[in-house]
Amino acid sequence: MKAEPVSPLLIRKYNQPVPRYTSYPTVPYWHDGADAEAWKERFARQFHEENHTHGISLYLHLPFCESLCTYCGCNKKITTNHSVEDPYMQALLKEWKLYRKVMQQTPVIRELHLGGGTPTFFSPQNLKRMLTELLRGVVVHPQRQFSVEGHPNNTTPGHLKVLFDLGFRRISYGVQDLDPEVQRVINRIQPFENVQRATEAARKAGFTSVNFDLIYGLPLQTVAGMTETIRSVITLKPDRIAFYSYAHVPWTSRAQRLFDESHLPSAEQKLELYRLGKELLTEAGYEDVGMDHFALPTDELSKARAEGRLHRNFMGYTTQDTGLLLGLGVSSISDAGSAFAQNAKTLQDYYAHINEGKLAVVKGYFLTDEDLAFRSYILDASCRGRVSFRPEHLPLLRLYTFPVLKQLAGDGLVDWNEAGMTITALGRHFIRNICAAFDLLKLRSEENGEAARRFSQAI
Ligand code: SF4
Repeated sequence: MKAEPVSPLLIRKYNQPVPRYTSYPTVPYWHDGADAEAWKERFARQFHEENHTHGISLYLHLPFCESLCTYCGCNKKITTNHSVEDPYMQALLKEWKLYRKVMQQTPVIRELHLGGGTPTFFSPQNLKRMLTELLRGVVVHPQRQFSVEGHPNNTTPGHLKVLFDLGFRRISYGVQDLDPEVQRVINRIQPFENVQRATEAARKAGFTSVNFDLIYGLPLQTVAGMTETIRSVITLKPDRIAFYSYAHVPWTSRAQRLFDESHLPSAEQKLELYRLGKELLTEAGYEDVGMDHFALPTDELSKARAEGRLHRNFMGYTTQDTGLLLGLGVSSISDAGSAFAQNAKTLQDYYAHINEGKLAVVKGYFLTDEDLAFRSYILDASCRGRVSFRPEHLPLLRLYTFPVLKQLAGDGLVDWNEAGMTITALGRHFIRNICAAFDLLKLRSEENGEAARRFSQAI
């Protein structure tokens, strides 16, 4: 199936700085100096509502990497000194104990994700020690989903065995691009053989879902190189492929300043790479799940989309909506439904808080009823491609959202009336821009002429 053409005019018009909407309100609107006590209260309330009905989700941020990939926008610490593992594990477990005190009952863990950084920087023995301690005295939900981000260069059979024994069944490998020239400029040298070896090892260990991350928009990427990358990776039949747009944010990511910007593809070239990728993936039987995500029809993500069960959070698309996500570790983000919290972003600050016996929350946001309503509109747009409007929101929708929808409809990206909105096939290329029609905080700050928060370009 050929991907539908997108006119260069539309690309230029909508290639604006727009959030990725893994949360609403988006992080730049959160407040510094969060009230940790108030957060604890919201967390406890949500925990008691969710724990025995749905279970909770845990995210562990493991920030260390042995070498710096220059495109990276994650919170990471580059070191080859593995003595950092132990103090970090101790701090993370202390933080977990602080939360266990707030919970005051046995947590039911439904989702557990190890992200980074490079979780496989930690030795298998250390991962085993830390996770065994973390899972001591908890109930593991019968529909648990435990997943890990692995680096194809350093994920060993030892890591895979330990994680499998602890209940992990999903692994996500950062493949990004297989073109040696692109790998050289992004400082991430991992030939196809490494990806193949890591994939086969995961399947042999018993992992039932292997995900690859690919990126389009990196320096020196070409149509020929992208074709080769995608043709090669699909021979390994990953269950899911996240095909991310490179976010060029040199004002926050210092390593990205090393790029020669003339090597970056233009917005038109970038969208061409995306269209090409989408076409090759669709031809190979992958379904377009939503913003940047593709999955085989047999994968849970495709099934959840078809059944309207898809959810989106800080980890991207997920099939589990537990209503409480607790992030542990430096810079981790937690979501308690009506409140967000983010931990200290430097290791020094994080350790200082935890060693004083305090939660490391330094930034957050308490959602109003209006935020909650518009958050659900954004989730419906990004996960289901359609939104039904509630009559009580019509005054706000008429003021902020409908003028934007009118413009989007004029370009063929949505169909809408005062009852609801549906995203068209063409509009699926511009989901971030469509979600922005419901971002009241951004629309209001633009109306007030406030200095724009900085986001990556939509394309
Ligand atoms: S892309 Fe991953 S491995 Fe590379 S520096 Fe960033 S977090 Fe580390």
